[in-house]
Amino acid sequence: MCGIVGYIGHRQAYPVIVKGLSRLEYRGYDSAGIALYENGAIQLCKTKGKVSDLEEKSTVNNTYGTIGMGHTRWATHGVPNDVNSHPHFSNSGDLVIIHNGIIENYGALKKELIKRGYKFSSDTDTEVLVNLIEDIQKNNNLKLGKAVQVALNQVVGAYAIAVFDIKKPNEIVVARLGSPLAIGVGENEFFIASDASPFIEYTNNAVYLEDEEMAVVRLHKPLNVRNI
Ligand code: GLU
Repeated sequence: MCGIVGYIGHRQAYPVIVKGLSRLEYRGYDSAGIALYENGAIQLCKTKGKVSDLEEKSTVNNTYGTIGMGHTRWATHGVPNDVNSHPHFSNSGDLVIIHNGIIENYGALKKELIKRGYKFSSDTDTEVLVNLIEDIQKNNNLKLGKAVQVALNQVVGAYAIAVFDIKKPNEIVVARLGSPLAIGVGENEFFIASDASPFIEYTNNAVYLEDEEMAVVRLHKPLNVRNI
């Protein structure tokens, strides 16, 4: 198990996400990380250890970005260390992902991506997934939501994921199979989390994704939930 927290709205995302990650600590984890979008760039900070270690190390606490995602990792593929911690970037640096679960066929997918020229800096199955999404998105000129959907149909395993595309900084795409994912719907803001505890003080309107459902969480748009 691990924890996922995301925010998209009008508040500074950093404190919302870090506080949310602390509330998910009960789920167990070995590393923590956060990615925030501000002024056309993604700021990333991640570390082996506790959420408090992330706060101490944090190079992003002065980032006032209002979109971001955070993660507490329970390592399944690759030892607990800073590099294997989430979030993970795609090769282009455009996509960033957090993932709870296991991609069982990651080995075969990774081999194929390496053949296509992709490089991997971590040992995780998650970095394979974000590059698979990127490959599909680029080759077929797809929107992020569609590329995530196509990629997940090639994946065997379990997941709750949140994916962000720097080219579309007003949306986060989420999906679930076998790991919980809740979306808090506020006024002109959305919260994403493994359970409702990270956003309980902001909204009591929670949508729980079912297995094999995904959602495009887009600012100023109604929540768009669809089947994977
Ligand atoms: N399988 C992924 C990893 O090892 C995610 C583990 C988790 O659920 O935290 O990085």
